Amino acid sequence: MTPSAFHIHITGIVQGVGFRPFVYTLADKHQLNGWVRNSANGVDIEIVGSKKALQAFIEELPISAPPLSQIDSIETREIKAQEFSDFRIVQSKNKATDFIPISPDIAICDQCHEELFDPQDRRYRYPFINCTNCGPRFTITKDIPYDRPKTTMASFELCPDCREEYENPLDRRFHAQPVACPVCGPQVWIEDNIGNSVGREDEAIQMARHLLAEGKILAIKGLGGFHLACDAANREAVAQLRDRKHRPAKPFALMAVDLETIRKFVTVSETAESLLKSPQTPIVLLPKKAEVHLTQQVAPGQSTLGFMLPYTPLHQLLLQHEQGYPEVLVMTSGNLSEEPILHENQAALEKLSHIADAFLLHNRPIHRRIDDSVFNVVDGKPYPSRRARGYAPNPIRVSQPLPQILAVGPQMKNTFCLTREKYAFLSHYIGEMENWETYQDFQKAVRDYERLFRIKPSAIAYDLHPDYTTTKYAMNRAEAEGLPTYAIQHHHAHLAAVMAENKVPPDQATAGLIFDGTGYGTDRTIWGGEVLIGSAEGFTRAYHLKPVPLPGGDASILKPARMALSTLWASGIPWKEHLAPVQALSNSELRVLNEQLEKKINTPMTSSMGRLFDSAAALIGIRESITYEAQAAIELEALADRNEMGYYPWEIDEQLIDVKAVLLGILADLSKNVASPVISARFHNTIAQISLQIAQKIRRDHDLDQIALSGGVWQNKMLLEKTLDLLRSEGFKPLIHKQLPPNDGCVAFGQAMIAAYKYTVNKE
Ligand code: ZN
Ligand code: ZN
Ligand code: FE
Repeated sequence: MTPSAFHIHITGIVQGVGFRPFVYTLADKHQLNGWVRNSANGVDIEIVGSKKALQAFIEELPISAPPLSQIDSIETREIKAQEFSDFRIVQSKNKATDFIPISPDIAICDQCHEELFDPQDRRYRYPFINCTNCGPRFTITKDIPYDRPKTTMASFELCPDCREEYENPLDRRFHAQPVACPVCGPQVWIEDNIGNSVGREDEAIQMARHLLAEGKILAIKGLGGFHLACDAANREAVAQLRDRKHRPAKPFALMAVDLETIRKFVTVSETAESLLKSPQTPIVLLPKKAEVHLTQQVAPGQSTLGFMLPYTPLHQLLLQHEQGYPEVLVMTSGNLSEEPILHENQAALEKLSHIADAFLLHNRPIHRRIDDSVFNVVDGKPYPSRRARGYAPNPIRVSQPLPQILAVGPQMKNTFCLTREKYAFLSHYIGEMENWETYQDFQKAVRDYERLFRIKPSAIAYDLHPDYTTTKYAMNRAEAEGLPTYAIQHHHAHLAAVMAENKVPPDQATAGLIFDGTGYGTDRTIWGGEVLIGSAEGFTRAYHLKPVPLPGGDASILKPARMALSTLWASGIPWKEHLAPVQALSNSELRVLNEQLEKKINTPMTSSMGRLFDSAAALIGIRESITYEAQAAIELEALADRNEMGYYPWEIDEQLIDVKAVLLGILADLSKNVASPVISARFHNTIAQISLQIAQKIRRDHDLDQIALSGGVWQNKMLLEKTLDLLRSEGFKPLIHKQLPPNDGCVAFGQAMIAAYKYTVNKE
């Protein structure tokens, strides 16, 4: 019998995930000879044996591939049979322009978890245990190919035991780059907040547990940066953390010892459970149970709590069931407000010493800081609100090949995006660009991604807003490098993002309800309650909220009371004295506000849906001033009566959505002493009904059934689910985000999609 032979090329995330040992084992199982190696864009295999065995091998490849791998394509071609005496893993072959996707950081796997708590194991209670299927990846990678010398593990020389595991193709730590043990790997220690080391290794972990149990605040170095932690059930500790961090109300993320513990506080759906337990272990926002034994202070005014499970061995050692120790920790980002999360020991010690009572540190450097990801569950499916750890830098796959484009993203909740082939490398969450440190971090991160993924932009996309830091960055680079630029309107980018995510061809006209906080419009006013019909080619503004003044700009964003009065003023509704927003402002504030509006002093016009939600919250008396973004809208949603079905009237006049009747309806309910939860629900229902009516008009006038939903307002789960129900009941096909957040975290991706399309068309 003459043997057959095949060359197989596999692309996707197939490096650093145990793919070669998997191929080795599979070849061994089917008694095939040949070799496997890492190569351009993936893995190459040459394999020789009987036809039957080869067929079985090829069939099994995609089915039993390792859990962290993601196969994009498998190309198989028959070649002339060669002589091989065995099967081998051979040296990688790379060209300078090749790029290889890098695996995101992955939560500790079940096998490592078992070893961690097995007294017989040589890594018993070792906080840096990991294997081919789990552990740090992106955060420790300095460059590609992903190999130990190019990670922050380079300085830890493998001990003989670790080396044996590392070099044995049949070991589950074969070529696990961060492999380490207590003999040769990183260590933890604990310091007080004046820099004295007070404990090492397991003793440090025990001390940290004691301090947390005593109500102390700890800075803990994790995977992508520092957390500030305290016992979530300890009222004083949580209050102190809020006080020291100058964070009066914004909810804290929580980490619980296990799923059963999480279930004590919140309702966990099947989707939520699989998200919580996934290798990405994001924070998941879950509906609070009526009776919660945690202090209200962890998430005041919220109907949800954000939980995650311990995702590193260190977290698992800190959180164990034991009488007298916390089972739930506050785990909030270790940063000063709006600054990037801290990830270096020295900087953390300097910046957090007035917040933390002690520091649990380690000496495995974090090369790249990355925040925890945050998900909601909407419509029974995962719905992101922050895409970072566990997801970045996995590219978003699109259907058409893309030129190399840099899209610099928006000003708030910044992410940027680089494209190449059929991949859009959307960066991890960068943050608020107003902040100088964040902007420095942005510049570094752009270069970092360009280098890692071997992308040299041939065009740059940016937001239409002339004053954005990102716009200036784009302008400077375009000039220095002689690149064409594309200015993209903010809500157009939202539309393009949700379209591309749903595989809508870029040139197919689609309707989008883009309900958002802020975005610079083509008429230089502030948009945000926009109904656009468009594609990557362009868009028309089909409908929008009737603009109202934003007196004093940001002053009115921070004070919903001002916004509510401005909204009333714009509709010619008088400010009656008993109204909550009137009560909330002093007489002189009211006088100044009135004068500002009458004389149009610093009153940019806005059609923002976010501001309408703020106005409603203030009018109902729920929130008159805020300390974090969207606080008023979040609290408005939190208290809404889920069973109320009523809604208010509105008018659509040509392109304008006029909500005067909605405001009058709310005022009438207030004067009848209708309960706030009912009024809030009616307001939500109204926006959902408006969405439906607009969809119907679009179907009539443009013959479109697909209605794309994007913009920060769609993080409102109640509004989104009601709108989806209404749209579906009338036969529409709503498109929502799945991989990217509806907020500005998706804007860079949308910018890239539009610019890539225009650039390609120009070239042809
Ligand atoms: Zn593992
Ligand atoms: Zn070792
Ligand atoms: Fe936006």
